[in-house]
Amino acid sequence: MQAKARVAVHKFASCDGCQLAFLNLGETLVRLADLVEIVHFAEAGPLAFDEHVDVAFVEGSISTSHDEQRIRQVRANCTHLVTIGACATAGGVQALRGMADTKAWVEGIYASPEYIDSLATSTPISDHVRVDLELWGCPVNARQVLGALRALLSGFMPPEEEDKVCLECKRRQAVCVMVAHGIPCMGPVTRTGCGALCPSFGRDCYGCYGPAENLNTASLSRRLEGIGLVREEIARRYLFINNGAPQFRQAGLAAKEKTDE
Ligand code: SF4
Ligand code: SF4
Repeated sequence: MQAKARVAVHKFASCDGCQLAFLNLGETLVRLADLVEIVHFAEAGPLAFDEHVDVAFVEGSISTSHDEQRIRQVRANCTHLVTIGACATAGGVQALRGMADTKAWVEGIYASPEYIDSLATSTPISDHVRVDLELWGCPVNARQVLGALRALLSGFMPPEEEDKVCLECKRRQAVCVMVAHGIPCMGPVTRTGCGALCPSFGRDCYGCYGPAENLNTASLSRRLEGIGLVREEIARRYLFINNGAPQFRQAGLAAKEKTDE
């Protein structure tokens, strides 16, 4: 009998929301466990950090010196490394610390700051080790995770989803909240993957899937200004969940600079 493929799910600095994409599979997870061997997944039970696996899913960003060592071990112990979620692919909301004085924050918040082991930055996994596939989103969804696993175990790399959320809106025939209601929306610069979930419920996209391909942030910033957002508000739209993604970081800082002029 052919040996089962071995899978691990690792956590770094994160809220665990992306691991829930696995746990929320429910019955499918039980069936999946029949097809693959889930070797390490602390949130679900199995603990075998050092075992070699075919696919290692990694949630979370690198925020401590211990994380830096651990991610190298994860890389050495797997054939394919797949990052899941905004924390792992772009550093997460916690990457905002890169624009602040981390030491001053730690000293201001903790009674005994000498016990805190924290880097001054929160960085994506790809800044530290080779990554085979990035699944964006905050959180990622079950369709992405299962699709990636199916493709990798069948021997091919799944195509990246880089279209803009606007395209998904059109496919779903959702009413455009920006055009119809003047609600500021990040869909024109955000990659799809969520199925245009927020706009299909009449609310704006807030960019949780990160930058799309061929994005024009300068144009969107002008549009947001036209709707009535002040520059500080525009900067916050970019400097949010995916603030560590270079295109969003750049657009946010450009909007901020104009505020400071
Ligand atoms: S990407 Fe979002 S949902 Fe996933 S771990 Fe990070 S904060 Fe949580
Ligand atoms: S609602 Fe947002 S994502 Fe949808 S078409 Fe309009 S701008 Fe694009």
